[in-house]
Amino acid sequence: MRQELARRTRVFEIFRMDEDRYERQRRLWDQRRISSLKVLVGGAGALGNEVVKNLVQIGVKRVYVVDFDRVVHSNLNRCLFFRRSDATKRAKKVDALARRASDLNPDVEVIPVFGDIRDLPSDVIKDVDMALGAFDNLFARLVLNAMCYSNGKPLVDGGMEGVLGTVQVVLPPESPCLECGMSERDLEHMWERISCSGDVVVDDGPKLPYIPMTGALVGALQVMEAVKIVLGLESYRSSGRWNESVGAPLVGKSLFIDLRSNLSYAYDLHKRSDCNVCAP
Ligand SMILES: [Zn+2]
Repeated sequence: MRQELARRTRVFEIFRMDEDRYERQRRLWDQRRISSLKVLVGGAGALGNEVVKNLVQIGVKRVYVVDFDRVVHSNLNRCLFFRRSDATKRAKKVDALARRASDLNPDVEVIPVFGDIRDLPSDVIKDVDMALGAFDNLFARLVLNAMCYSNGKPLVDGGMEGVLGTVQVVLPPESPCLECGMSERDLEHMWERISCSGDVVVDDGPKLPYIPMTGALVGALQVMEAVKIVLGLESYRSSGRWNESVGAPLVGKSLFIDLRSNLSYAYDLHKRSDCNVCAP
């Protein structure tokens, strides 16, 4: 009789486990902390789609997505939330992304912010715990970098082109920022693409290659770094130790991934004493 009761109780427990969306990840981390996380995602293109997908699947509290662009057919090879109908209607990327991401997990509040990152309302950056950079241009990435640093918010920046990807974690005030890792040539090239009015000049040169596999990999790494920060930052600040279950984030390093060889390299960055953003 007692054995029968134990067996039935076990069956009921397994049933309950399968009713909980987050049961398998609760085995790795404190889901309450993840479920209270508020994030800004800069960019609603290929990386933005991947980053938002992961954030929504793990069940964060709130995601703001900022972008000024509209969906076109050539986005459809790598943006999993966009549909042909979005491209036909030239839908706002942030609207299409927010609508379908909310459908994937209605528990997460996905808030579209249509516009330039420079015009982001200040209450958005103040509301979030951190930002994830998913822009395809250096200027927007550096604007977000400066915004995060001045507000003391961690930034996990991602970039990709063809079979190459990069990820960098910026943790104010101790770590170097994105601008510290830029060469003079990177910055010169960026300014060549900015007009006197501050608009990004749309050039007619060849477009960069993008494939979905690179975006999926970089987006996954970015959200994993975000998880490491949210679960470990408090402990790191008080004891110097990150959360052991998920590990330490790439603070002060830049990760470079090459899908041709499947090799990745993490190299150290250093604060530049003349950096406009992070120099003391
Ligand atoms: Zn810097």
